[in-house]
Amino acid sequence: MEFSTFGRKLTCDAGILSLMEDLGRAKEKYGDDLVMMGGGNPGQIAEFQELMRGHLSEICSDPAEFGELVGSYSPPYGNREFVTSLSSLFTGEFGWNVGPDNICLTNGSQTGFFMLFNLLAGKMSDGSVKKICLPMAPEYIGYADLGLEQDLFVSNRPNIEIIDDWFFKYRVDFENLHIDHTIGAICISRPTNPTGNVIDDNEMQKLMARAERCNIPIIIDSAYGAPFPGMIYTEATPVWNENLILSLSLSKLGLPAVRTGIVIASKEIIAALTAMNAIMSLSPTNFGAHLANRLVADGTIIEVSKSVMQPFYRSKMKKAVAAVKENFGDLPCRMHVPEGAMFLWLWFEGLPITSLELYQRLKEEGALVVSGHYFFPGLVEEWPHKDQCLRVTYSQDDGDVQKGLRIIAETVRRVYAEE
Ligand code: PLP
Repeated sequence: MEFSTFGRKLTCDAGILSLMEDLGRAKEKYGDDLVMMGGGNPGQIAEFQELMRGHLSEICSDPAEFGELVGSYSPPYGNREFVTSLSSLFTGEFGWNVGPDNICLTNGSQTGFFMLFNLLAGKMSDGSVKKICLPMAPEYIGYADLGLEQDLFVSNRPNIEIIDDWFFKYRVDFENLHIDHTIGAICISRPTNPTGNVIDDNEMQKLMARAERCNIPIIIDSAYGAPFPGMIYTEATPVWNENLILSLSLSKLGLPAVRTGIVIASKEIIAALTAMNAIMSLSPTNFGAHLANRLVADGTIIEVSKSVMQPFYRSKMKKAVAAVKENFGDLPCRMHVPEGAMFLWLWFEGLPITSLELYQRLKEEGALVVSGHYFFPGLVEEWPHKDQCLRVTYSQDDGDVQKGLRIIAETVRRVYAEE
């Protein structure tokens, strides 16, 4: 069958598709012993699940509430109560001037990015073409195939700050960051998937100044960040103003299945997303919004993020870092400082094979990770570093993570020895 250009764009050669399929098939092919450190699933946190089970059973035992949960479409901007609770939370907690008209829900934040990127970049009405600037790659692979126009992204190579024998940190290279009339919006994940980097307040302020000068918005992807789920292990001030588009999600809190993304932006952008929601899906998810409303209305979501999520992931991160230090001491391996999210980003300087080849070998050896080369959307220049990194997820069972890291160390040791 012949598919349209749009159809082909969304069906062929998408990095995220092959990656997701490969992750899905790996267990079938390599058996149950395969240590899964490749995906983006959040951990199963008993305390949080208990809380949600309680809320769900309260809703289910009240016929009117149950009817609300499953039996009605929400308005195209999303469930009214939830949106109002969110606006009160942001105003009360941070003093942001956010009303319900500044919020729109989407079916997962991934869908929100599809809408935002194609709203703000691509072919413009005057015939010009605008791009989304990712100020620093590595950046989230899920953005890469979202543009309806070819090559929607431009990204910049970061500066690498060596911190000590074990750690390094990517920094935005402001000297080579060119933002002009060809850019429709800037986007950055904070914390960053895959590196666990959190751009600091100073970098954030500089980006905001640049964006304001060019009159373009910055999209801040806070899928792992503030105010929820709060997987941040460093100092970083949450920010929002009319020139920023903050994207949040219920997924990493432990609810990826309810597909609820939250966009906080100017009224103009929210009105546009609302229209897009109506056209694409009539209305966004009501289930996630209704289920999470109690958490937001009484502020528990902030409390849970601070007292449950953050310590849970921080402790996992510390164990993973300790396992790297224990197993990789004799290898040219550095980690990106794990400042947030749930990934270790390992850099093997001078790796004799590509990270994709290493990924294949690791699969055979029993550890599933993600090759780092996927995470450079929009960075066309040659840079050996792109093929020297791996993303390792530490959100799952600690014993598995330890085992997986041992397998990686043994395999990498052999790779260097074979050189
Ligand atoms: N942004 C980042 C940085 C992510 O890692 C993910 C998912 O892994 C998403 C956005 C999309 O999440 P969701 O569509 O579940 O809200």
